[in-house]
Amino acid sequence: MIAVLKNGVTEAQKNNLIDWLKSLGLGVHVSEGQYQTVLGLIGDTSKVDIDLLNGLDIIDNVTRISEPFKCANRRFHPQDTIVEVGLGSNKVKIGGGNFAIIAGPCSVESEEQIIEVAKAVKQSGATLLRGGAFKPRTSPYDFQGLHGEGLKLLRKAREATGLPIVTEIMSAAHLDLFEDVDLIQVGARNMQNFELLKELGRLRRPILLKRGLANTLKELLMSAEYIMSEGNENVILCERGIRSFDTYTRNVLDLSAVPMLKELSHLPIIVDPSHATGKSRLVKPMSMAATASGADGLIIEVHNDPIHALCDGAQSLTPEQFDEVAKKVFTIREIL
Ligand code: PEP
Ligand code: MN
Repeated sequence: MIAVLKNGVTEAQKNNLIDWLKSLGLGVHVSEGQYQTVLGLIGDTSKVDIDLLNGLDIIDNVTRISEPFKCANRRFHPQDTIVEVGLGSNKVKIGGGNFAIIAGPCSVESEEQIIEVAKAVKQSGATLLRGGAFKPRTSPYDFQGLHGEGLKLLRKAREATGLPIVTEIMSAAHLDLFEDVDLIQVGARNMQNFELLKELGRLRRPILLKRGLANTLKELLMSAEYIMSEGNENVILCERGIRSFDTYTRNVLDLSAVPMLKELSHLPIIVDPSHATGKSRLVKPMSMAATASGADGLIIEVHNDPIHALCDGAQSLTPEQFDEVAKKVFTIREIL
């Protein structure tokens, strides 16, 4: 349920109302806009007499939110959420008009590899560095990532370049290792690992939540809700392609997800053209299209030697190709 307050309501009146709603056992999320204050009521709102609430002279209107996602709902929080990633002068904002490119290899493979790629992508305008240390591979016989060692190398690359780091968590049992990871990624295969989502909800660190291979937008938003309802509102959504029947591309990039999610939710949404297409030559056109669709950012795989990459080489750009893509993307941002 959301209650919109009238213009000019005093702080004391607002706080009295919030205290009363809390005394009914409800959580109250306050969204202060330029013109309006919106109270989002979380919990069992059947206890609230909607007519009584509507009748109060400080209330403009009250509506029940019919969608099952509340915290992630745009009606709950009309302004775009801006998620801040990283610390100090290297802090990056994503959402609300702030666009960011995350770039780096699928997997961290060695110190030379991650530092070389980090320096190159930074030079081309990426503001965050990606790199998997725990890899969710279809086959247990494939390279699984360097685990703790990979995280150490990512930290070294962050020290060398200042870029905040983005890396995937696969189990809540690894949380200690992720203590200083700037943006924790939940991969497509774990989008509905609800126990993991709840644990991440208890942190206050930014979470990058990728859409599952065969999940609806509503399911993606419900997964965001698992994180947010525990108190962590720093969620960035990611469209990374979904399964369909065509075999030329790895997945089908659902770009309509971007404007649709923006309508439904206030959370930032970024696009992963690398996993969506599986082909490096398709990354440029789809990066441009994703940017034009209104995405708040991109996550792109870049490798210094794609042919010998231990994972996802076919979809990885060389630093030179990434430079070209970034230039095109920034041009489209200027036009927008
Ligand atoms: C990745 O980003 O390397 C990855 C495994 O992505 P996804 O979960 O989207 O497949
Ligand atoms: Mn990958």
